[in-house]
This record gives sequence, C-alpha cells and structure tokens, in this order.
Amino acid sequence: MRILVLSDIHANFTALTAALDAVKDRWEHAVCLGDVVGYGPDPNEVTSKIRELGAKTIRGNHDKAATDLMATHDFNPVAKAAVDWTRSRLSPDNLKWLSELPSGPLETDGVVLVHGAFQDEDEYVFTPAQALEGLLDSTGAITFFGHTHHQGGFSYENFNSHLEVLNIHPRPSESFAPLRIETKRRYLLNPGSIGQPRDGDPRAGFAIADLEHEIVEFWRVPYDISEVQARMRAARLPEPLVQRLVVGR
Ligand code: ZN
Repeated sequence: MRILVLSDIHANFTALTAALDAVKDRWEHAVCLGDVVGYGPDPNEVTSKIRELGAKTIRGNHDKAATDLMATHDFNPVAKAAVDWTRSRLSPDNLKWLSELPSGPLETDGVVLVHGAFQDEDEYVFTPAQALEGLLDSTGAITFFGHTHHQGGFSYENFNSHLEVLNIHPRPSESFAPLRIETKRRYLLNPGSIGQPRDGDPRAGFAIADLEHEIVEFWRVPYDISEVQARMRAARLPEPLVQRLVVGR
C-alpha cells in the first residue's frame, strides 16, 4: 500500500490541488500531520478536501488555535492575525471537524504520525539531538513529523548508535527524490509543507511512502503562487505571509 503523506497545508488550496494532480493513481491511503489551516486564504476548501480524501489526520498548533483549543499568546502578531481571520471564515461544520482532530502520536498503516516532536506536539524538531529522542521513543520504525516546514529528516541505527541527517531534496528539475528504507534503521521523516515551505524551495512538499517496496518518495510540485498571493491580499491577510510564499522561507 502506498501512503500519501501531507503536512502543513495551511489553507493553501491551489498548492494542495497541484500536489494531488501530480500524483493521481500513485497512492491508496492519505494521512495528514496537521496544520490543515492557518496563514492561507482557503481554510474551508482545504478542510473539506482533506475530509473528502478520508485522510487520517492529527491536529497541528494552528488547527488548535483556530478552534480555540490553544491560546495564541505565544503566536507572533502576524500568525495571530491569520488565526483570527481563519476562525471567522471557517464553517461551523469544518470548525467542529478540526476541533475534534486527535493529537499525535497516532499509529496507522504501519507508520507513526506526529505534528511536532514525538513527546510534544508543539515542539520543533530541527537538530539531530532533538530528533534522537523521537527516533528512540517512537513506537514504530518509521515516524512522520511536520511543524518545521523543512523537507527531509533523520535516521538511526541501534547497532552502532549512528544518527544520520537525511538531506534529501528533489532538485529543481526533479519532481521527487527517493529514499531507500533499510529495515535495520529507524526513521523520523518530514514530508515538507504543502502550503508554506520554509526550506528555500517554494514548491509544495509532500511524500509518498511505499513500505512494501521499502521506499519513500519526497516530492516537490510547483503551483501558481501569484494567484494565491492575489487572493491573500484581497482577504487582507498580513503582507509578510503573502511574500514568504515566493521565497519558500
Ligand atoms: Zn505549520
């Protein structure tokens, strides 16, 4: 079975649609690591699409903030403005669905899903030291995480205590880069962000895991960024959020 792994969609329906169009017939089940909404102009379109796909979804911090499950005093003013705008736009039905999302870790289809760190859904995992805890504690050999909006991850081999940083990234001319999974290793993998990449590549990021063939594909798909920016400006979403889409930072 091939699993489509989506994360940090952030209400960007144009990016989500481009990603789904690029990989038609290449997956059977979808999962989502949270931050369905927040920042982008399409909270209802994206939430409805994720529901329609039947994607097993865990909550992210922006989903919690938009549904009042989390206070926003830790959010910067720009993120907070987007949270308030998102909350005002969500339909009661989508708001209810988002508010009932489970927290990670969630085990499904042979993988473990978390939004941030394995031990704390709101914590960022950037460094090998931060990754090591999750690699050792996770209940599965392959754990997917989001939150940082950086595609790639870490792997660890118990036998020689060797932790490897996986700088895996499709080149500008490539749609995806494959990672061969070794059964003796454990993995903490970030599929990248669909709606607001921050690793310097503005293309929508996601992954497809084919455990039967021991391969994870890390995808990047271009989308019409200027069209999304025009809608964000029309909605009066904060300008820094509009501009960062082009640079992917
Ligand atoms: Zn996010």
